[in-house]
Amino acid sequence: MLRKPLLLAARSTACRRIVERTPVTRAMVHRFVAGEDLGTALPAVERLAGDRLVTLDFLGEDTKDRTQAEGTVLAYEDLLAALGEAGLGDRAEVSVKLSAVGQFLDRDGEKIALENARRIAEAAKAIGTTVTLDMEDHTTTDSTLGILRELREDFPFVGAVLQAYLRRTEADCRDLSGAGSRVRLCKGAYDEPESVAFRDKHEVDKAYVRALRILMEGEGYPMVASHDPRMIAIAGELAAANGRGADDYEYQMLYGIREEEQVRLAAEGKRMRVYVPYGTEWYGYYMRRLAERPANVLFLARALVTR
Ligand code: FAD
Repeated sequence: MLRKPLLLAARSTACRRIVERTPVTRAMVHRFVAGEDLGTALPAVERLAGDRLVTLDFLGEDTKDRTQAEGTVLAYEDLLAALGEAGLGDRAEVSVKLSAVGQFLDRDGEKIALENARRIAEAAKAIGTTVTLDMEDHTTTDSTLGILRELREDFPFVGAVLQAYLRRTEADCRDLSGAGSRVRLCKGAYDEPESVAFRDKHEVDKAYVRALRILMEGEGYPMVASHDPRMIAIAGELAAANGRGADDYEYQMLYGIREEEQVRLAAEGKRMRVYVPYGTEWYGYYMRRLAERPANVLFLARALVTR
């Protein structure tokens, strides 16, 4: 019931102003966001990298400002250099939202996003790590997959996210299940119309399993991004049924969610990667986390009334 209004609020500038200015919200945000800058996020990454892998997201999305897009690229270049200096090139990669590096700019947006993503991929290559393109709402899917194809010609280690709730995703999984491809499969976090997406939770779960089966049967590297115990169990079964060893796929979860399960999977010898966002542009990311779990809204509401 709360999912739709929260996802609408995630794109509202007025709501953003209110939420960002509430001191108590900022405290709640730290459950999901590792820090507002690299200096505060890096210790969290170093701690996680002890037993898990990491993917870092410099927060930001939907920019219409070329200078801001340039700032995001510079932040990723600094981040990758810092990961290299900390000797984390084999434990940490980066996740990039193309809308943060120019995809929505009025003039030549896609071209600028491609060039900016190339610079990030070059910096990743220099420290021997990988890049994954996050997936945003369905209006961006074709553009993001097109940019992925171009990037992979020079940087074959660049992967992408597919969202099980989209009706097109099984076909996209087939296209991207070849050797060398890296696909993160998630359920999907945006408010999508019935015409392009399954909206019923059970339909989405069934679609997730169908898509995962295609990826596990393929020759690429599946990245199982879910906190759902059933999806995690099914992923293990599908991997075993397809003769995949522990290094032939990985699990992924978000920073601050089901940490005990992350530790358990890592202790079992599974590849377990944590998605670590940091930066000041946390609003949209935080609202999507609230929308995924109404209990998170209750925590926030309780904090607001007891402050
Ligand atoms: P659900 O059925 O939603 O949740 C299963 C259980 O997980 C819940 O019962 C609860 O215990 C726990 N849980 C889930 N969400 C929360 C939460 N917010 N707070 C507390 N507990 C929670 N989506 C995109 O659209 N594009 C992306 O690029 C993208 N990248 C992602 C990267 C990673 C590594 C992960 C893990 C998710 C990503 N997502 C992305 C989000 C994803 O689409 C889902 O919205 C989110 O993961 C919730 O789905 P679930 O599979 O965990 O299952």
